[in-house]
Amino acid sequence: MSKKNIKQIINSEKQQIMPGMFINSPFPTEELKQVDPFVLLHHFGPYEVNKAKSFSFEPHPHRGFEAVTFLFEGEFEHRDSSGGFGKLSGGDVQWMTAGSGIIHEEKQPDDFIDKGGIVHGIQLWINLPKDVKMSPPKYQDIRKADIPEIKEKNSKLRIIAGSFNGLTGPAKTFTPMLVIHGIINNGNNNIEIPENYNSLIYVTKGSITVNGVYVSKSQMALMSNDGTTINISSESGSEFLLLSGNPINEPVVQYGPFVMNTMGEIKQAFIDYRNGSMGKI
Ligand code: MN
Repeated sequence: MSKKNIKQIINSEKQQIMPGMFINSPFPTEELKQVDPFVLLHHFGPYEVNKAKSFSFEPHPHRGFEAVTFLFEGEFEHRDSSGGFGKLSGGDVQWMTAGSGIIHEEKQPDDFIDKGGIVHGIQLWINLPKDVKMSPPKYQDIRKADIPEIKEKNSKLRIIAGSFNGLTGPAKTFTPMLVIHGIINNGNNNIEIPENYNSLIYVTKGSITVNGVYVSKSQMALMSNDGTTINISSESGSEFLLLSGNPINEPVVQYGPFVMNTMGEIKQAFIDYRNGSMGKI
């Protein structure tokens, strides 16, 4: 039960996704390619969305990983090449296995844009091991009400994947991991994590201390693979996403919307996308 050390505090890079709209991304960057098995983290918003200003992602393909959308506020809808359609509201999580290949589009619903509101969330890409990269695509639409919570005074830990304190999150994963969304007000939590798991805490709102070290909004604490205890505390209203996973330890070649093991497999993904074998919207 010894404390994990912090390997590094990472500042996000700002990346423009639309004119005037930026996301924060702690990885992948030149300095930090991935935190195996997590290969990409994009923090979007909070944005004020209205008729004059909204954002969408036109139909695009994915292969070889899982794309998980954590929507903290607002609404989002998606449509894909398998005929899937779904809507997300604040607190919901969409866990999409791109697997062998899917084409999808993501946007704010028209009625939400008409009335206007705040959109805030994270998109996370989780790598898949070589032997399951070409699994059939699938969705897990996880509703806010189905995510178990550990409540203490004004704080709560929402267990999205993996098990903690006797609660198990609803997300089914290909490799062992723990994914927790924390909302803390004058809270102090100890989270136990296997020593070999790669772990990070990304702050989405306010500021927290991680094992005594201050971490503020859009910063990430990257933990060392020593010790097992992460203490997270906050005085004010703060939120974070804790990601901890058993590393896959395989070569990663990420190019555009594909995450494979070799450049040859990336080229094949482009061929399969162009010849229509990933389907159409
Ligand atoms: Mn996408």
